[in-house]
Amino acid sequence: MNYEALGLFYLVSAVLFITGLKLLGSPDTARKGNFISALGMTLAIFITILSKDLNYENAIYGFLAGGLIGLFVAKKVAMTKMPEMVALFNGFGGLASLLVGCAALINTISSDIFFLSTVFLSILIGGTTFTGSLLAYMKLSERIPGRPLVYLGQRFVNSILLMCILVSAIFFIQNPTNLHWLYLSVTLSLLLGLMFVLPIGGADMPVVISLLNSFSGIAAATAGFAINNILLIVAGSLVGASGIILTIIMCKAMNRSLVNVLFSGFGKVSLNRQVSMDQGEVKAISGSDAYYILEAATSVVIVPGYGMAVAQAQHAVKELQELLESNGAEVVYAIHPVAGRMPGHMNVLLAEADVPYDLLLEMDQINPRLDTFDVAIVIGANDVVNPAAREVKSSPIYGMPVINADKARTVFVLKRSMASGFAGIDNPLFFKENTRMIFGDAKETLGNLTKEFD
Ligand code: NDP
Repeated sequence: MNYEALGLFYLVSAVLFITGLKLLGSPDTARKGNFISALGMTLAIFITILSKDLNYENAIYGFLAGGLIGLFVAKKVAMTKMPEMVALFNGFGGLASLLVGCAALINTISSDIFFLSTVFLSILIGGTTFTGSLLAYMKLSERIPGRPLVYLGQRFVNSILLMCILVSAIFFIQNPTNLHWLYLSVTLSLLLGLMFVLPIGGADMPVVISLLNSFSGIAAATAGFAINNILLIVAGSLVGASGIILTIIMCKAMNRSLVNVLFSGFGKVSLNRQVSMDQGEVKAISGSDAYYILEAATSVVIVPGYGMAVAQAQHAVKELQELLESNGAEVVYAIHPVAGRMPGHMNVLLAEADVPYDLLLEMDQINPRLDTFDVAIVIGANDVVNPAAREVKSSPIYGMPVINADKARTVFVLKRSMASGFAGIDNPLFFKENTRMIFGDAKETLGNLTKEFD
């Protein structure tokens, strides 16, 4: 295949990636966006195989094996386990870049500084992403404790580690035939990934996963420079840029800086659960008592959270929404950007139950008018409705924007117990004068509530 034809196909793939990414921005076009991006990637893989003097058979086997594993895992994974899967994908992306960097080095005898620097960067960033993502996966899947591991002088140790990697890289670039420096760089990069993720935990894990996603893209882009593949540079840059944008959005949603997320050991503080507040009395009511209040309500805001995903209560929520609407009430949903366990988690679940998108209001849209609602129904949400973020200065989440569900005239909180949420901190909402707890599995509770309307 000549260079012009290859360039044209790569251009088509790049356009498919960018179009797919754009369509992923809205829930109603996201599936199409995913399909178009996958089409772009398939085209890219086949064009690359055809353009090189490669062993076709091995490449096809690799494509089939990878595709089948991906299909199986994607079909099998529960929605609540998606962040773990994304962490694994990021890790393998990093490993792939590390291997591409090493292969480029073995196959090319060159002392060109640019080439050696890009090889080194793909190895450094790829290796760090690989081990960092594996550790994030193990923390999220609770194979190891998810809390941050902080020790004195941690930042100093990490800085020394980074310096050692840079020094070994300089020696390696000066003397590329001596592979010992390369081995040392690879080992230290793998170690850096672990040291980077160790002090992060608890509610900060989604941010670090998004950041590692960005790293995997940057590693791929540098690998693209190393093997002179334009499409890898384009695809890697898209992943790198979108990952960092998502990271910034999540930090903003928590009112924290990235530096604070990466180095403060947030979960360690929060797991102490030291929230100084006057805890009043918890008022629990039954579904049938809640029905009388709901029946009289003219406006209801539903605030879903991780518990709705666990209970798979989205269809029951939609049923309640329809009953309330036919009873004459206005019903909207308040969606917090980090509700659930992955960005857009609530949107995906509610879309599955065919809840109209225009009923889903973002935090900034709903908060100014929350005090006008008769009832707020909090379904398996905890951290994202925690008023300690506004009221308790000593709280680890003080300053984080939350949905002000407590401002509604009456608040129903549907959860199974008084247990804390992901951040591991107490929630003063449960003790507020206008809050009524309805204990039990969210799906069951909603089923009981809807029966009352019959
Ligand atoms: P939380 O994790 O704060 O709270 C979920 C609540 O759901 C728990 O308190 C639990 O209480 C309740 N619950 C669990 N199962 C059920 C059930 N079957 N029926 C009823 N209730 C149930 O969730 P939020 O959505 O409020 O907050 C998300 C948290 O996760 C934030 O801290 C965020 O930073 C973090 N996070 C977010 C990610 C994202 O990208 N969205 C990714 C990873 C973490 P009980 O056990 O008493 O029932």
